Amino acid sequence: MSDCIFCKIIAGDMPCDKVFEDEQVIVFKDINPKAKTHWLVVPKEHVVNLQEVEDSHQSLLGHMALTISRLARQHEIGDYRVASNNGAGAGQIVFHMHWHVLSGAVDISTL
Ligand code: 5GP
Ligand code: ZN
Repeated sequence: MSDCIFCKIIAGDMPCDKVFEDEQVIVFKDINPKAKTHWLVVPKEHVVNLQEVEDSHQSLLGHMALTISRLARQHEIGDYRVASNNGAGAGQIVFHMHWHVLSGAVDISTL
């Protein structure tokens, strides 16, 4: 989507501090971190949020979870929280699905 900030990052039209990328997902550091480690796990396909996913996204969703698990081990971030805001009423600001990964001094009140 042309007016989507995360699509622009995925396309390379906007910079990010990238942690990982493959053909399905990109993981980058949140620009306004709420914890010592604060990553955003973002599918390359523009999906609005979990309210909009379909059965066809099953493998993508599993891939996102496994990517988090592997990266957390590789980076030795310790215990971590995975959070996803789905809908404006739940605090979603960017309407391209993303899962927050937070570790170390997590401030959950402002997520
Ligand atoms: P939401 O409230 O939609 O779940 O979270 C959106 C997150 O995206 C926020 O934590 C915000 O700091 C982050 N964010 C917004 N714009 C950018 C950006 O341009 N680059 C990066 N790296 N993070 C962003
Ligand atoms: Zn998008």
